[in-house]
Amino acid sequence: MGTKRRGLILDRDGVINIDRGYVGSVTQFDFMPGLFPFLRAAVDKGYLLAVATNQSGVARGFYSEQDYEAVTAHMLAELRRETIDISLTLACFAHPEGKIAPYAFESFWRKPNPGMVLEAVRRLDLEAGRSAFLGDALRDMQAAQGGGIGNCLWLTQEKTAPKGVALVPDFTAALERL
Ligand SMILES: [Mg+2]
Repeated sequence: MGTKRRGLILDRDGVINIDRGYVGSVTQFDFMPGLFPFLRAAVDKGYLLAVATNQSGVARGFYSEQDYEAVTAHMLAELRRETIDISLTLACFAHPEGKIAPYAFESFWRKPNPGMVLEAVRRLDLEAGRSAFLGDALRDMQAAQGGGIGNCLWLTQEKTAPKGVALVPDFTAALERL
């Protein structure tokens, strides 16, 4: 057994908050039902929590990096009120077809690429093989696997999963896998 911590890395839209499509303001941000007890239980099991989110809405010009930061500050403050601490929040604003020039590129951080997962593992000194990723998109699972995460949990109503991915229809099922 290593001495490194295990992490639970979470996608944001569709996992932390209801995915309304390009959520760029606090008024559009509503937490997923059942999230808080799930995260508290994960912490009780010894997981550090991190968020890794694609935010191409910035590259597309739907909202700004500052808008994203305001939403993140709200998210972290509300979670802290619920006694839940997120150790690290990473976002990728880039998209190859973005309209905003500084963000219009293919980024290694953009899921399904593993950049953000590798960064979270490095920054939090996680043992990737004993860590988990919970996401609602296939590209989350691809990023997690590319980053060496051992426990890839797909929050979905899909019935078939790629090799090495566990289907979890809800937070209760996800918790059973941690
Ligand atoms: Mg998502």
